[in-house]
Amino acid sequence: MQIKNHHFVVHKFGGASVKNSEAVRNVGTLLNQNIQGSAVVVVSAMGKTTNELENVLGVLNKEGVVSAQAQMNSIIDAHEAIARELGINIDLRLIFESALKTANELADEDARYDALVAAGEDASTRVLSGYLKTKNFEAMWSDARDVILTDTKHRSARVNERKIYENGAGLRTSLSEMPNRIIVTQGFIGRCPAGRTTTLGREGSDYSAALLACAIGAKEVVIWKDVPGMLNADPRVFEHTETIKELDYGEALELSYYGASVIHPRTIKPLQNEGIPLFVKSFVDLNAPQTRIASYPGKVPGIPMYISRPNVSLLSLGPADNSFVGEDHLSTLFARLNKSGIHVRMMQNSAVQFDLVFEEDSERRHRFVEGLGEGFWTKTEKGLELLTMRHGNAELMDQLTAGKEIVMEQKNPSTHRRLLRAIKV
Ligand code: ASP
Ligand code: MG
Repeated sequence: MQIKNHHFVVHKFGGASVKNSEAVRNVGTLLNQNIQGSAVVVVSAMGKTTNELENVLGVLNKEGVVSAQAQMNSIIDAHEAIARELGINIDLRLIFESALKTANELADEDARYDALVAAGEDASTRVLSGYLKTKNFEAMWSDARDVILTDTKHRSARVNERKIYENGAGLRTSLSEMPNRIIVTQGFIGRCPAGRTTTLGREGSDYSAALLACAIGAKEVVIWKDVPGMLNADPRVFEHTETIKELDYGEALELSYYGASVIHPRTIKPLQNEGIPLFVKSFVDLNAPQTRIASYPGKVPGIPMYISRPNVSLLSLGPADNSFVGEDHLSTLFARLNKSGIHVRMMQNSAVQFDLVFEEDSERRHRFVEGLGEGFWTKTEKGLELLTMRHGNAELMDQLTAGKEIVMEQKNPSTHRRLLRAIKV
């Protein structure tokens, strides 16, 4: 347990909450109404910038830096327009162009990725801190890479969480300098020992917020979303969703692991270790219900929770000589999986076959299959749905999956999961 003798709060804003000038102004208003004392504000890249930078990287790898620059111009223009509308003057072009230059000089593709996409977070934090200064906040820009020290596993870098409080000394000093200091810093990014930028995996800003909370011994973390807290199901997929007002860390961890996309799965554990509560609040409606995730031992949500992942793949494989899947095979499989970067959502095995279910990602899947080599046969089925229900009952599950074919099923006292295939008519 670290020293928590202060009332610092970490506020995290995702891409949607800073997607244009109006959204950035709204963040200013929210902070004005919600901040007492010093705080760290963690920001993602604006809107869909990370996706767009991924496209630029594709062009860089295929066609070279000149084409990539051309592709990147629309991103720069959009950012410059937002800055102009907010009345702030920052050299955003320089941020993107120097990231592209650094990326172009790196040989490793994943290192190039990290160097380039981090520009999205660098730009959004410059814009937000610049804007907050014009609104008379004691805002200060800070480089998250000075605190989030990672290994060299580019695109899904690991953080030594045990050292995070130590790394946060500088931040704590800055926060204490003034009664109402606002430090604006990036989610998603870190730095490896060689000094290169790394990233924590897509949607990793929630995890950054948790790490920074541990680094400063925060009183609480607030994740601002466009939904009213954590719901029992995704409102885009299910009708009649409800906000879960209080959720135990353990339950939140399970839900995010099963694919509830509200919070990045790595976020919960560091907060649980330090006993820092996490609030999920709506930036759209301050009066909407909200969720508090903390230690509520033994408490389970009073309603069933549903998680649907619509685009998963089933990869079945086995030893090419039709022998049993033995422990020796399993150790090869898991080593290959770890290398491939595939995040497995469900697995099952029989005597001669091993089944893996994961979010479709053709690049990682190919990497995995190629890595297995000649010794295994493999078969892939794409376009399946994985439905997870917690704290429900068999009848509800049957209702929800009626008209679909069950490809695989797993059940324990709290969790019931079905891998489903749409029936073709
Ligand atoms: N900007 C990054 C992404 O879109 C990180 C985040 O949003 O959390 O994945
Ligand atoms: Mg984002």
